[in-house]
Amino acid sequence: MNLLNQKNLAKFIFDSTIYNLKKRFDAYGKTLYDFINNIYVVCPHCSKQAIVQSEEFSKRQIQNETKLSCPNCGFNKYYKETPREKWVSKSGIVHEINDLVVGKNIDPYFKLPLWIQLRMRDGILWAYNFEHLDFIKSHVEAELRYRDATKNLHWSLGAKLPKWMTLKKNRNEILSAIDKLKRLT
Ligand SMILES: [Zn+2]
Repeated sequence: MNLLNQKNLAKFIFDSTIYNLKKRFDAYGKTLYDFINNIYVVCPHCSKQAIVQSEEFSKRQIQNETKLSCPNCGFNKYYKETPREKWVSKSGIVHEINDLVVGKNIDPYFKLPLWIQLRMRDGILWAYNFEHLDFIKSHVEAELRYRDATKNLHWSLGAKLPKWMTLKKNRNEILSAIDKLKRLT
């Protein structure tokens, strides 16, 4: 076998190792969008736990059924009732801008602070709901398990969680923060 072939073989083995581990990692099979239909937020009226419920998530469609409701004070509001920025095209057609914010510690629609969040030394630990929090917990644990098992590979399987959340030195702190947040139910 010449040098080139050896190199290719090594690359192939390395690539398929990454592929297999990625596949295992993705076997959790969920993304942020799987948790987006029920989001716990801080009620803008009474500061207790309220919920933002929506159906199919789409950035393009107006979210007619998306609704904020608070079981404590009874406040409720549809997303379609909230004023949105408008943009007028040259031909005079008015477009409503659906400025949904996904992946921050606020809900995408009303931009209310999430109920489940905790400021930590390196960033904010947040989750849309308790199922999401459990998912993050299993991700953090899995990430560390895989890293322990593949000590010689200097790459991370992460990409989905901020780096600080998957650092071994932060493990206990993050897992205990998750437990603290779970008690918010
Ligand atoms: Zn309320």
